[in-house]
Amino acid sequence: MAYDALIVGAGYAGAVSARRLAEDGGKRVLLLERRPHVGGNAYDGPDEEGVVIHFYGPHIFHTNDRRVFDYLSRFTKWRRYQHRVIANLPRDNPEVVPAHKNTDGRFFFPVPFNLDSLKNTFGMKEGARLGQKLLDAYPAQSQVTILELRQNPDPEIAAIADYVYEHVFVHYTMKQWGQTPEEIDPATTARVPVRLSTDDRYFQDAYQGMPLEGYTPMFEKMLDHPNITVETGTDALDRLELADGFIRLDGEVFRGPVIYTGQADELFGFQFGPLPYRTLEFGCETLPRDYFQSHGTVNYTVDGDFTRITEFKHLTGQVKPGVTTIMREYSKAYTGKDGEIPYYAIISPENNALYAKYKAEADQYPNLHLLGRLAEYKYYNMDAIAARALTLTDGML
Ligand code: FAD
Ligand code: UDP
Repeated sequence: MAYDALIVGAGYAGAVSARRLAEDGGKRVLLLERRPHVGGNAYDGPDEEGVVIHFYGPHIFHTNDRRVFDYLSRFTKWRRYQHRVIANLPRDNPEVVPAHKNTDGRFFFPVPFNLDSLKNTFGMKEGARLGQKLLDAYPAQSQVTILELRQNPDPEIAAIADYVYEHVFVHYTMKQWGQTPEEIDPATTARVPVRLSTDDRYFQDAYQGMPLEGYTPMFEKMLDHPNITVETGTDALDRLELADGFIRLDGEVFRGPVIYTGQADELFGFQFGPLPYRTLEFGCETLPRDYFQSHGTVNYTVDGDFTRITEFKHLTGQVKPGVTTIMREYSKAYTGKDGEIPYYAIISPENNALYAKYKAEADQYPNLHLLGRLAEYKYYNMDAIAARALTLTDGML
């Protein structure tokens, strides 16, 4: 069968693009996916005990982009869910009786760190006083990044900043990136600012939720179109050849649009060297109890060799008495070893410059489009990728 468009990868970038080109553009789309399933890193489904989990790490949908929300809403209903996260850390200040104290010498506060986190940490009275101090320095309801807060010249605010840096950011960031908050891209820690409010939601976007039946069914619906052929278990690199400005599919020059959502360095045979990534190992544990923890995600911001524990039943709302599955995330450098998955691009001027070489190579192919978290070497959330797929395909229709 002849195809008008070729798409590599069945995550958000590939699936949204495929549907648009097939439905709105009337194009016959071939979508190749290396994994045995669609959904990319958002893939979910029941584990061996029947608890629905996200196999590639916890995914919570949130966006301010109405167009993205409306587009995805064609393929799923939503469960209303607002993600809340707490930090779990050793109590190092026995003078203070934290609001959420527990008996084993650990305590908890909301993350992003907010005015209530201050009270949990420093006690009600002192926490309120320090909160007022912050509110005198920054507008109420605003948020400030930890790196900005640390620049504040007021000694008491600087002390709060140091506390938050030490108890929320530095150890977690070292675990996640192997680097300090100063060494990584500032936009990364800016994702989790300090809040001048008591809003304890992890995200503040207008639209938040979880696909009611799960991400995988949403992707399956999106890709269920007579103009779309999906081949899972197919590595596009076995079928594609890029040379002299021409893309060949199975030996034949392919002239339609090619949207590639895998790694840019891999597409070009790592010719300029591999792009650095962080990978994750997921430690899943199924426990014979209703729930393990109070929140969907608990961040281990000071100790432990993992960054966070997510309990999926909180996210999905699945009713399943007597059994629950939790996932610990262990971050490490990506080595490119078989089976390892590159999850996070490591954004830095040097790595961006290396990426630019691959992008320049891609630009030699007029019908090639690099799209997605891997192909663009960026730290994008799901909604941002869906938005980029809508915009790219706008230009093709
Ligand atoms: P992917 O989902 O990675 O899809 C790319 C697909 O291309 C993959 O299926 C891959 O197998 C396939 N592929 C690659 N190369 C080839 C090839 N040669 N041939 C065939 N197929 C190929 N975002 C949020 O909005 N909220 C969250 O809560 C959230 N949590 C996250 C948690 C973790 C641990 C991680 C790592 C990411 C999280 N994200 C979250 C980000 C989200 O995963 C991405 O934004 C989204 O998956 C990007 O979609 P994509 O299509 O660009 O890439
Ligand atoms: N971060 C941190 N402590 C936390 C939460 C986040 O230091 O408790 C930092 C860390 O560097 C992390 C970044 O903020 O990589 C972004 O956090 P987010 O939860 O958005 O990461 P993701 O869910 O994308 O892995």
